[in-house]
Amino acid sequence: MSLKAVETGRAPMDEVERQGRIDLAAMFRIAVRYNWHEGIANHFSLAVSDDGKRFLMNPQGRHWSRIRASDLLLLDADGSEDAIGQGAGKADPTAWHIHSRIHAGNPKARCVLHTHMFYATALACLKDYRLQMIDQNATRFYNRIAYDDDFNGMALDAGEGKRIGGTMEDGKSVLFMANHGVAVVAENVAMAFDENYYLERACKVQVLALSTGRPLHVVSDEVAAKTCAQWQDFPMDAASDHFNEMKAILDKEEPDYKD
Ligand SMILES: [Zn+2]
Repeated sequence: MSLKAVETGRAPMDEVERQGRIDLAAMFRIAVRYNWHEGIANHFSLAVSDDGKRFLMNPQGRHWSRIRASDLLLLDADGSEDAIGQGAGKADPTAWHIHSRIHAGNPKARCVLHTHMFYATALACLKDYRLQMIDQNATRFYNRIAYDDDFNGMALDAGEGKRIGGTMEDGKSVLFMANHGVAVVAENVAMAFDENYYLERACKVQVLALSTGRPLHVVSDEVAAKTCAQWQDFPMDAASDHFNEMKAILDKEEPDYKD
């Protein structure tokens, strides 16, 4: 089905949704390239209404390497895991419970990426581990990570999703879920991609450094805070540039993501 066919199935989609579908579809293809994916599992979502309650998410059962803009489900956080509109599918139940609670509870959480990407997840499997400020990439996340230390099985009810969503409400942008994985929340897909990229890079360095068995050389809180501020104030929109370059690669090598 093309984006055009989706549009004929219900009220015409607005520009925010149309562009959101393209950007989020690109995000799935990029995740495959970096091996952040888990086949057909895990989930990304993007709010397309001002109150955040209408959001796009991947349908259950579709491999991320094949997801196209028109495949994405439009969901209502106050509704059910059944997509709005004709011919639409169903969201994965755990995806529904996690993402609907995050979007319903926090309109600023526009784009939510949930993965079990290897290095971040490996650290989430260490007891009481907190991301250590040992390299420049790690300092980007200084004081910006929430930790949910209580793994409780799969998030198959609203309570679990609400609890996970709630840990992000105090302005943190990343959630480490113990024994499970991570979630990154950002104001748009480009920023979420860039955050996820640097998070996994920082975690990879951390795993490699820990694997030596030598003591970590942790920078001071003062330097970590300063470097984090430098990341935030960097005088260019690096996230958009980074994401647009990735989309240019997709445009050339797998342009059907936009269909
Ligand atoms: Zn998960």
